[in-house]
Amino acid sequence: MSFAFEPIGWISSCFQEKFGIPRQPGLVPEACACLEIIPPYDQREAFRGLESFSHLWILFVFHECYGLAWKATVRPPRLGGNRRVGVFASRSGFRPNPIGQSVVRLLSIERKKGRLLLTLGGIDLLNATPVLDIKPYLPYADAIPDATAGYAPEAPAPKPVVFSDQAEQACRQADPTAYPNLRTLIIGLLAQDPRPAYKHSNAEKHFGMHLWDLNVRFWADGDQIVVEHIGPAVK
Ligand code: SAM
Repeated sequence: MSFAFEPIGWISSCFQEKFGIPRQPGLVPEACACLEIIPPYDQREAFRGLESFSHLWILFVFHECYGLAWKATVRPPRLGGNRRVGVFASRSGFRPNPIGQSVVRLLSIERKKGRLLLTLGGIDLLNATPVLDIKPYLPYADAIPDATAGYAPEAPAPKPVVFSDQAEQACRQADPTAYPNLRTLIIGLLAQDPRPAYKHSNAEKHFGMHLWDLNVRFWADGDQIVVEHIGPAVK
């Protein structure tokens, strides 16, 4: 048996590549996206009542993993990247059916120039992610206070983030319409320490995170993350 689904919409986010995207939703509230609903699903009545929910489930395709081989076990970053768990005990995108689900904040639903747009906060989604479905988040059913969570019992502790003079200045001068909440966003993303989980390969390494058309260069000085330079991304 096989099924063919088509997207109901597409994500626009600041994340141009997988590196740097929060590893789960809700970790960085400033990470926002616009979900454009496409015809014939962009009927306002299909969303009637949704604006009264603060959060949504977004079901999407890990499109950058689509068609790639999956393995029975994966190495979650939470286990340092060197211990394996079953793919079905993970939230990895490399799975037999590369479908993801994220609980995100619903910030607005509006029609702009004829396009139906949902603004979402606290996302973990790559730009151009295809969305298959949207459902309201129901706290009484979906939030389970006594749930246990195996190898990921709580959110990772955030790391301190400091900025070089150049990076501070770049944030101050950035156009807030093009790069909303740039400084807070960078702090939120880097506090999650997006470096590969294999820490020994990170020593003294410098990394670049691609946000919109910017390259945010950083490295780790001991336990703190240092934003050393913010400039145009090289295409
Ligand atoms: N919350 C979702 C879930 O549990 O199904 C996604 C969790 S997954 C660990 C989150 C990571 O998937 C992000 O950090 C990013 O690297 C990657 N990702 C996000 N959107 C993607 C896409 N469209 N295709 C492939 N990978 C994606």
